[in-house]
Amino acid sequence: MSTHSISVDERLRNYMLDVSLREHPELRALRDETAKHEMARMQVSPEQGQLMQMLVRMVGAKNCIEVGTFTGYSALAVALALPNDGRLVACDISEEYTRLARPFWERAGVADKIDLRIAPATETLDRMIQAGEHGSYDFAFIDADKPGYPDYFERCLTLLQVGGVIAVDNIFMGGGVADPDADSDNVVAMRNFNALIRDDERIELSLIPIGDGLTLARKV
Ligand code: CA
Repeated sequence: MSTHSISVDERLRNYMLDVSLREHPELRALRDETAKHEMARMQVSPEQGQLMQMLVRMVGAKNCIEVGTFTGYSALAVALALPNDGRLVACDISEEYTRLARPFWERAGVADKIDLRIAPATETLDRMIQAGEHGSYDFAFIDADKPGYPDYFERCLTLLQVGGVIAVDNIFMGGGVADPDADSDNVVAMRNFNALIRDDERIELSLIPIGDGLTLARKV
């Protein structure tokens, strides 16, 4: 019964949300707004947002990084879990998607905790490292273009302090990573990334089968 993870069908997921989801009203409103968008599937699920809030609090995170903000759901979730003096550097290349986020961040009272930087994330992260910020972050979330994951991961690991956690999204690529017939660039990139970090001795890791698969990597 407990030798492997159960597959969660719609009925069980609804039950799961019913008995465990606590979603801030502005998160709910932002999720509804994003659902109208053609790229809505890029948003993290509410149960994943809640897990990230738990992680942020468990590691006592104050300084956080996000690579791939989209319409700002995960950034809002993390910012809500941060202490008053906490800060999230949110990296994205799209003005259009992130513009949707700000009114929700403001109504939730956390806009001043979110430092949105519109630029390629590798540039933003390199600038942070050059500014001497290595070893000073506690939590990072990577959810952006899949071929970029090794670059983002390496930089986030540098910026993290020992004990800090990186959460990496879309590890399963809708199941494609385990499908021998799937060979899209994104699936191949994700397989390569997963193989890369599996034996990385600078971290300990756990792959959580939530949403589209979330790997947690803790810097040791
Ligand atoms: Ca994602």
